[in-house]
Amino acid sequence: MDKIYPVENATVPYWRSELHEIDSYRSTAKLPEECDVIIIGAGLSGVSTAHFLLDDNPSPPSVVLLEARQICSGATGRNGGHLMMVYPYIDKITEAYGAGAARELLLFEQAQVFAMKKTAEKEELDCDLVLTRVCETTQSQEIANERREGYEKHRRAGLDYIDDVDFIGPKFAEMISGVKGAKAAITVTAAQLWPYKFVTGLLAKLIKRTSINVQTHTRVISVSSDQNGMNTVTTPRGSIRAKTIIFATNAYTSGIAPEYYQKIVPTKAANSHIHVPKNTAYPPPHLSHTYGLSYANGYRDYLIPRPDGGVICGGGKHTYGEQKELWFNVCDDSTVIEATRKHFETVMQENFIGWERSGAEVDYLWSGIIGTTADALPHCGKVPGKENQFILAGFNGAGMPHIFLIAKGIAKMVRDRVPFEECGIPRIFKSTEERLVDKVNC
Ligand SMILES: Cc1cc2nc3c(=O)[nH]c(=O)nc-3n(C[C@H](O)[C@H](O)[C@H](O)COP(=O)(O)OP(=O)(O)OC[C@H]3O[C@@H](n4cnc5c(N)ncnc54)[C@H](O)[C@@H]3O)c2cc1C
Repeated sequence: MDKIYPVENATVPYWRSELHEIDSYRSTAKLPEECDVIIIGAGLSGVSTAHFLLDDNPSPPSVVLLEARQICSGATGRNGGHLMMVYPYIDKITEAYGAGAARELLLFEQAQVFAMKKTAEKEELDCDLVLTRVCETTQSQEIANERREGYEKHRRAGLDYIDDVDFIGPKFAEMISGVKGAKAAITVTAAQLWPYKFVTGLLAKLIKRTSINVQTHTRVISVSSDQNGMNTVTTPRGSIRAKTIIFATNAYTSGIAPEYYQKIVPTKAANSHIHVPKNTAYPPPHLSHTYGLSYANGYRDYLIPRPDGGVICGGGKHTYGEQKELWFNVCDDSTVIEATRKHFETVMQENFIGWERSGAEVDYLWSGIIGTTADALPHCGKVPGKENQFILAGFNGAGMPHIFLIAKGIAKMVRDRVPFEECGIPRIFKSTEERLVDKVNC
């Protein structure tokens, strides 16, 4: 089996430019010998699950959180910091699973935006969370036509989630989006935030007010279980026994849960932070939407203009997509995908009105590892065939609008022993034997 684990010396993302004091935190010098629940992985999945397991719980389980590197050093610390409904892709979901499943998914995503906002406010997390609208824009007439047809179809069908979707035709698409030559735009409620600050802030609160034991720089090498359903987790620092294991290891899951080998595949992606020099003679207009920009060549960038004037821009896959060895089944985020740099350097100038002479330039370029699945859906719930092992992983390129409330559902399964069907997670996310048949094939 390939070696699938988080590597050392990962590239430095913009989000890790301001580190929290718990970045490399260890609650105790030695690992505990035993506990009730072990959560593996301290990204948004692992920390949110810990939050829902321990928060407001009069009889909390003993929880150990194991992380191979620093807190939030995986995909959550490397992504676009963007939560958006997958509305533009909803027809694919409807075709595959039916209108009921598609509706359930969109309403779940909508709810997650507000749930994260509420938690950030309640816990006073200083994470730059801004409620906004994503502007899915295209300069391609063909894509614009498809989007209009899709929107009209959903509107005629009277689907309730369409109330939050706005289709903007060619007359105003360029003006409203600020994207040169935009043929159409669809806007939907979205949020942007500093994901590292959300995760570290939430975990710092847990460390303060609960008995959670956090162990960074502690990579899990294997997980085994005995006939009584007791699990043993082995690390280079020793072993821990626990009744319940939660895999929150996203792209790296198959390294320690062989059921997911070739079913959750590590896939390398590129991201950047673009800044405008303070002394520029031509300050660009501030952009108040977040963006998906679909090009005629079939590729898509996402651009998240930050409240401070910088822009997170990810994608750029047309520059390296054909070199599969650079990204497919790759879990090394210690190097950047250099081919994307030139594209990110000019993406604002080429596509946004008023940015031509801004002097915008890339100051951070980094890589991150996505967990790709065959059906583009995450695996959640019980690990098939394992009574006391749970999973939330394989989030593809869009975990942010799903993870927080999935974590709530997983915590409910563990805390209240409810079945998957009653835990509030969209039905199509359930990890099943059937879904483990197909390999990822890019
Ligand atoms: C470049 C990039 C851009 C993205 N942009 C977006 C976006 O804009 N919007 C969106 O919705 N999604 C985006 N995504 C996807 C999103 O980031 C992920 O879906 C999400 O962050 C997954 O969170 P997680 O906690 O499950 O995984 P992670 O954040 O990867 O956390 C998993 C943790 O597990 C740890 N771990 C793994 N194996 C072990 C082990 N054996 N022992 C101990 N610890 C282990 C890892 O070190 C890691 O910290 C992007 C991803 C990338 C890479």
